[in-house]
Amino acid sequence: MSQPSRAGVTTETPNPQGFRALGLNATLVQAAQSLGVERPTPVQQQAIPAVLAGRDVLAQAPTGSGKTLAYVLPGLQALMAQEAPPQARRVTRWLVVVPTRDLADQVSATAIEVLKPLRAHVRVVTLTGGTSVNRDQVTLRAGADMVVATPGRLLDLMKQRALSLDGLTCLVLDEADRLLETGFAAELSALMSQLPAARQTLLWSATFSPAVLALAATHQRDAQRIEIKAVDTDLPDIEQRAVAVDEGRRTALLKAWVGSEPWKRVLVFVATKYASIHVSDKLYRAGINATAFHGDMAQSTRQDVLREFKAAHWQVVVTTDLAARGIDVSQLDAVINFDLPRSTTDYVHRIGRTGRAGQQGVAISMVTAGQRAHWRLIARRHALDIELEEVPGFEPRDPEPERPLDPEGHGGIKGKRPSKKDKARAAQAASAQKGGPAGDGT
Ligand code: ADP
Ligand code: MG
Repeated sequence: MSQPSRAGVTTETPNPQGFRALGLNATLVQAAQSLGVERPTPVQQQAIPAVLAGRDVLAQAPTGSGKTLAYVLPGLQALMAQEAPPQARRVTRWLVVVPTRDLADQVSATAIEVLKPLRAHVRVVTLTGGTSVNRDQVTLRAGADMVVATPGRLLDLMKQRALSLDGLTCLVLDEADRLLETGFAAELSALMSQLPAARQTLLWSATFSPAVLALAATHQRDAQRIEIKAVDTDLPDIEQRAVAVDEGRRTALLKAWVGSEPWKRVLVFVATKYASIHVSDKLYRAGINATAFHGDMAQSTRQDVLREFKAAHWQVVVTTDLAARGIDVSQLDAVINFDLPRSTTDYVHRIGRTGRAGQQGVAISMVTAGQRAHWRLIARRHALDIELEEVPGFEPRDPEPERPLDPEGHGGIKGKRPSKKDKARAAQAASAQKGGPAGDGT
């Protein structure tokens, strides 16, 4: 394999001034850089100075535009500026409310990733349904500077006086359109009525639905309004393909592709850390330069892997959605969905990683019998018109199982079945939407 020139590795002009110029301090900018985040996205450009100035923000920006860091970075800066002593009980000053557990986990993970290299005493706690409420109560004894929560569990814990929001300075409603769609409206207003009035309120949404605008009108003051146009979700440089294959034949198919296609850098997405190790080991044993990239690896190890991937020492990196947030490698030839993403939003995040900077890229989703229904959901959400192919020698034999679709559109999430409350909410949302267009869920 020929060695790529160093100059060819980064195609984007680095702009270390970017985040600094928005008012973020150097340590935080460095922490972001260690996650591969160098230049602010448009929504970050506009929102960060406003958030730092204490203003309300009403932002509409498409999926994948970087809304999370647009509030996480200035939020952490505010929290770090008034750090409580290490032993003191934390007062919750920032509250982030999101519609799903998945999203809550993602937001917390992002904040924790940023905090990792910093020596900051900022405690981030995630509160969502489907986990032990007793454990939440114990966790909250030490308090939390930033709480990331879904509405139901949050209200439960407030009712039990396990969490006080009297010291709140900033409320963040992320994916506000979905929050209002999924039947959380009543819970949201119950929540809002219990929060200190003198606070900052940040609203983020992929769409400005009438409900979002009404919420903004009631709960925001002189908000900075941001509207970022949707980027082309057709992702014109990216060839998207979907291949039907049996679950047990995926590694063999992957080996066949990597052995025959002229791919120098391939990013493979799997569902779990374990799978990232397992799949990369199998490839490695087959003589392919493949390695895993996951959240349990030390930061320095991850940086090594990224550097080596950029230098084309590794041909294949096998990763999870969470860990992949830190991967910013230009010139990926292919993204392979070995497992489909659980959330339809992640599909765009994943495939957007290939075909960057005018390069031709391919994104191939492996669709097992068990994931057919979920694939159809992803295809519908993104209006994809892709035929499910079969590869000679790998024709699927497994029958498609009959199973109901998750009403929230997250497909079959192993070990995360909807709770009674989730189901009630979904039913409520479904009846509220009857006759209307299907929610986009992003
Ligand atoms: P949104 O909430 O707008 O849908 P996210 O905040 O989830 O988008 O970000 C989408 C992806 O972009 C994430 O993987 C995130 O790590 C990455 N990202 C965010 N900001 C930047 C940036 N400034 N530079 C590079 N990658 C970024
Ligand atoms: Mg988001």
